[in-house]
Amino acid sequence: MVARSIYFNIGSRLPDGGIRIGGGAPVVVQTMCNTSTDDIEASLAQCRAMAAAGAELIRLTTQGLKQVESLRLIRDRLRAEGILTPLVADIHFLAEAALAAATVADKVRINPGNFAKEHEVACAKFRELIALCKEHGTAIRIGLNHGSLGERITQRYGATPLAMKEAVMEWLRMCVSADFYDVVVSLKASNTLVMVEAYRLLYAAMRDELGLLFPLHLGVTEAGGGEEGRIKSAVGIGTLLGEGIGDTIRVSLTEDPVHEIPAGRQIVAAIAEGYSPRGGRTVVEASRWEEFIIKGSCLWGPSLLDKRIDDISLEGSTIGGEPVSEADGERFRDMLLQACRRRFTRPEYIACPGCGRTLYDLESTFNEVKRRTSHLVGLKIAVMGCVVNGPGEMADADYGYVGEGRGHVTLYRGKTPVLRYIPQEEAIDKLLELIESDRK
Ligand code: SF4
Repeated sequence: MVARSIYFNIGSRLPDGGIRIGGGAPVVVQTMCNTSTDDIEASLAQCRAMAAAGAELIRLTTQGLKQVESLRLIRDRLRAEGILTPLVADIHFLAEAALAAATVADKVRINPGNFAKEHEVACAKFRELIALCKEHGTAIRIGLNHGSLGERITQRYGATPLAMKEAVMEWLRMCVSADFYDVVVSLKASNTLVMVEAYRLLYAAMRDELGLLFPLHLGVTEAGGGEEGRIKSAVGIGTLLGEGIGDTIRVSLTEDPVHEIPAGRQIVAAIAEGYSPRGGRTVVEASRWEEFIIKGSCLWGPSLLDKRIDDISLEGSTIGGEPVSEADGERFRDMLLQACRRRFTRPEYIACPGCGRTLYDLESTFNEVKRRTSHLVGLKIAVMGCVVNGPGEMADADYGYVGEGRGHVTLYRGKTPVLRYIPQEEAIDKLLELIESDRK
């Protein structure tokens, strides 16, 4: 059976017709505000900066009905300014918020499994949402993360890539039977192996079972920031794009989200320039360091991930026509091998990008945690913005630093909260004390 590629325009009712996704259209690069959506001016300023940087879709945290109204105000102001970038409402749990957002946003991002504990209730809410989206020309992203799989699925399949694929296929079958095709799917994980495997399984299932290839949104969650965040993202996203899988991407960074756009563009450009195992290149030629690490990750990451090679050689690779220095080359090699989960030579950091739920300065805290724990090779340390999704999303971290309300933090050992609601100023010291006392 030849599978049909689904494509459509997100924001089809916008004056410019919105943006095409899927069916071989150019890969759409998107990002997400980390402002509180209720802070209209701050969110507007960030949306303007993102649009100016070339963001093709912008997502905003929409946890409840109040934020849906804020989103409406932001949308109207942006449109009045001539900024037509489609807006995505990021819903996590509340079906009522999704239903309200379907009449305001160009796309709603949901995990329908979170709508209700009882599967039948969640299904009914999802059908209601589909009907409303159809009526309003709104697209849906079914966004399922490795850390937020429901018990119903994990009891059957474990927390595996297969479970992620199975969970999404249930919702996709419902979309098909409701004759609704304006749907994008994401299956993110912070572990690049899990992420790549989940998308590959889903792609094959859509092709073989449905005969329909819904567009896929690619991303590595909680990738952290800086070089490591870019390398991890380029490995996961680049591996799949290099195989022809993926229609839109977000590079999640624990930084100013405007930085996510050039990083995403560089991954797309690297694949287009042949930096993938099938692309014919063997060495990297780059003009800047960021470009070098992204191209190198797209070129060698997939073969490391799939264990076709055990190491890389930078011989012949250049930055600005010069060979890469030994120290930089070694650092890149260490980070790439770790991102591909082949050799662990530094602590593994898991950090969310932050969003409207984050009530502390995530970026500087994350950098400080990294600085003070850099000696703890082999440990997995998570820094997460909120207690709503943080604990679930921090995967198999050994320790977690999770924001809980304004200026407060809860520290986790594995999945267990051990020091609750401590003032933020004391939290990094307490985290180190906790780790040290466990190591004695
Ligand atoms: S963990 Fe919380 S703060 Fe971080 S991105 Fe997810 S929802 Fe936002």
